[in-house]
Amino acid sequence: MAQLEIKSLTKSFGETHVIKGVDLRVEDRDFCVFLGPSGCGKSTLLRLIAGLEEASSGEILMDGKPITDLPPAKRNLAMVFQSYALYPHMNIRENMSFSMKLAKADPQLINEKVERAARILGLEPYLDRKPSALSGGQRQRVAIGRAIVREPRIFLFDEPLSNLDAALRVQMRLELARLHQDLKATMIYVTHDQVEAMTLANKVVIFSAGNIEQAGSPQELYRRPANRFVAGFLGMPQ
Ligand code: ADP
Ligand code: MG
Repeated sequence: MAQLEIKSLTKSFGETHVIKGVDLRVEDRDFCVFLGPSGCGKSTLLRLIAGLEEASSGEILMDGKPITDLPPAKRNLAMVFQSYALYPHMNIRENMSFSMKLAKADPQLINEKVERAARILGLEPYLDRKPSALSGGQRQRVAIGRAIVREPRIFLFDEPLSNLDAALRVQMRLELARLHQDLKATMIYVTHDQVEAMTLANKVVIFSAGNIEQAGSPQELYRRPANRFVAGFLGMPQ
């Protein structure tokens, strides 16, 4: 059974049809990357999975059970945003513990989880600082740490590295690959960067204008692009 299954999912904003009937399976421990040009609906699909947008029609299942009508907090997912979305008035420890405090978790357990995440991400020296005292790369690590603390079944990433410079992007890419292995988690990752997609993913989903053009391993896509759009987007001769 697929861990996450999306069936005939659509989303319109008024007359604008942004997601036009998406079917997709994401298996346990997949690193699944949504790749496509800007404006094609990648973030909207991710937000639908997270429950931050309401679907117009269709269904989302987790472990075979519908989650389409569940609020975000009940979906066993954690999302990492491009803009980091940290609370500026809270220090790093408070940023990382906030969701667990809301859920009224045991304070000692919260501490253990925050410190474990900080250790994984090399954030231990910064726990008492405010986000404004951190570099872009460190802020992005905090955003990832906040997701790790929640121990979700699935991590959702929306272009998490696009605000970082090129060298840091390469480093964070390696860290994300390591995290995926260490946490034994399922990751769904949105990007418009082909290199990022091909280095991170075991499954790439190519999008254009609200539709999936092709889904498969990087090797499959390079070997047998389904159409001219896919070939063109992967920079292959047509
Ligand atoms: P991507 O992440 O692939 O760049 P998005 O999912 O952000 O694409 O957006 C896809 C399309 O949906 C765009 O044309 C965007 O303007 C439109 N869109 C996204 N969110 C809204 C909204 N809340 N209201 C109206 N249009 C939206
Ligand atoms: Mg986007």
